[in-house]
Amino acid sequence: MKVITIDGPGGAGKGTLSSLLAQHLNWMLLDSGALYRLCALAVKQHSIDPKNEQAVATIAEHLDVRFVNEDSKLTILLEGQDVTNEIRTEQVAKLASQIAPFKSVRQSLLNRQRAFAQHQCLVADGRDMGTVVFPNAPVKFFLTASANVRAQRRVTQLQQLGKNTDFDAILKDIQDRDDRDMNREEAPLKPAHDAILIDSSDMDIKEVFEFMKNQVDK
Ligand code: C5P
Repeated sequence: MKVITIDGPGGAGKGTLSSLLAQHLNWMLLDSGALYRLCALAVKQHSIDPKNEQAVATIAEHLDVRFVNEDSKLTILLEGQDVTNEIRTEQVAKLASQIAPFKSVRQSLLNRQRAFAQHQCLVADGRDMGTVVFPNAPVKFFLTASANVRAQRRVTQLQQLGKNTDFDAILKDIQDRDDRDMNREEAPLKPAHDAILIDSSDMDIKEVFEFMKNQVDK
């Protein structure tokens, strides 16, 4: 089945854009970051040492997750429990990026991710969708934005939710996560050789979406 990949660092707008593109094409969406976050949350809930690769890999292999789509609302269940919001915290994101470098963890999640494309066309959002998971995808995007712009967007999002924000702390979290994702040995974050690069620092979501749509509809 056909796959379009969208890779890039956290906070570049991949989530929103892959969801818009999937709706536009009426294709399924794979949020691969959610799988790493779910694995991280399971590690935390089972009090596993996140540095113990073998133990984390066992969790990844037996991950009991369900993505339930009802009335256009996605609910994510981990071992039967609704964790849709819980996996979106900075703490879970950080833990996800700490276990993501493990080769055996990536290997377990690889098969799950590929299985999504077995029976349906897919828009796949992540870090290594175009380089490792779906190297033959006919259209690949690499979406980025400066760390400052991404931190500012995150601050605005949190303020809209009425939450307290600290720009410097958020910027540091983003830079640390970029650093871990780009400098790991396994599937480091980088554009595929045939990816279309988009720097959205000076673009809004609508402009990026129009650009992507034009590339896809070509
Ligand atoms: O995309 P998201 O922010 O939800 O991803 C959380 C973390 O999971 C990333 O910082 C990265 O370390 C890891 N990840 C990954 N490969 C993917 C998707 C996410 O290593 N394909």
